[in-house]
Amino acid sequence: MKGLYIHVPFCRQKCKYCDFVSFVGKETMADEYIKALKREAEEYRGEKIDTVFIGGGTPSALTAEQIKEIARMCFDVFDIAQDCEFTIEANPGTLDDSKITAMLDGGINRISVGVQSFNDTELRKIGRIHDAKTAYNTIWHLKKMGFLNINLDLMTALPNQTMESLKNTLETAVSLPVSHISAYSLIIEDGTPLEREYSRGQFVLPDEDEDREMYAYTVDFLKKNGFLQYEISNFARSGCECRHNIIYWTGEPYIGLGTAAHSYNGDARYYNTSDINEYINGAERALTPLTREDKISEFIITGLRMNRGISEKMFRERFGIDIKSLYGKEIEKFIGLDLMRYDGENYSLTEKGIDVSNSILCEFV
Ligand code: SF4
Repeated sequence: MKGLYIHVPFCRQKCKYCDFVSFVGKETMADEYIKALKREAEEYRGEKIDTVFIGGGTPSALTAEQIKEIARMCFDVFDIAQDCEFTIEANPGTLDDSKITAMLDGGINRISVGVQSFNDTELRKIGRIHDAKTAYNTIWHLKKMGFLNINLDLMTALPNQTMESLKNTLETAVSLPVSHISAYSLIIEDGTPLEREYSRGQFVLPDEDEDREMYAYTVDFLKKNGFLQYEISNFARSGCECRHNIIYWTGEPYIGLGTAAHSYNGDARYYNTSDINEYINGAERALTPLTREDKISEFIITGLRMNRGISEKMFRERFGIDIKSLYGKEIEKFIGLDLMRYDGENYSLTEKGIDVSNSILCEFV
């Protein structure tokens, strides 16, 4: 399996919590940027690709013609598998029929919509450009236009969020024609406007217990509504798990094109510059070789975040050693504490273990 990620670093407005590489007011550079993407893609001509993910930024901030051009480039340059999962990220409020048609005609078969919440006060607080109604209508419209595989991104632990408002958001989410839901807790990143407001005491965040309660409620509610948890923050209807993300989580190789994108070839990771001008001017990628220990740590961390856990066989095949000879002590301890389980093939976290996953993962690295 191999994935292709394409970064589109343009946004209409910066969300207050965002520290991703994305720029406001630079859409006029998009044509030049796409040319640079094509130049970079040529280095990988003929590579077989199983999943494509156009992310950002806000890919739906591009014009219909630009979206078409990127999709066309993928099929022209790469050997795209017939059953390729081809995702694009979109923001409610930046889509119109010509863009949606360009996506579908271009072979894009999955769309991931950044909704975050169906509560207008919460959306305003984190600086989203859309309201709840626009997000709701967008999802129905995408379905009507022909998207069968739709993901919806939500956030928990938002400023002033209550259990009540989270319940409303989740109820709305499952009433929509979506096959996948991601739900990440808000992290207040240094240097963001939200961090400045938080440090001035302008809002309160749900405390640790409330955060945990919200998470437990989310998992349970989504399960009851047919969305099975397959990773700590990801839920899908049966067969609709995101194959692209699973490539990252199982340590398979991927190619990343665009500013700040990184690639992994099984031995090393390559990073592109975060500076859009430098990228357009052809800046070299930085190389970070990974040691065997690095690869093992990543395999454990991402593997344990997935419900299916770490395959004992895959670990042995990949690293030439039994996982128990490296981590026997930790595994025994966590199984004894009912934080991990072994089903004869895989090691995974129990529900209790997911609750304290961060401290468990720390002990493995
Ligand atoms: S839309 Fe996404 S990438 Fe753009 S500012 Fe908001 S969170 Fe950041």
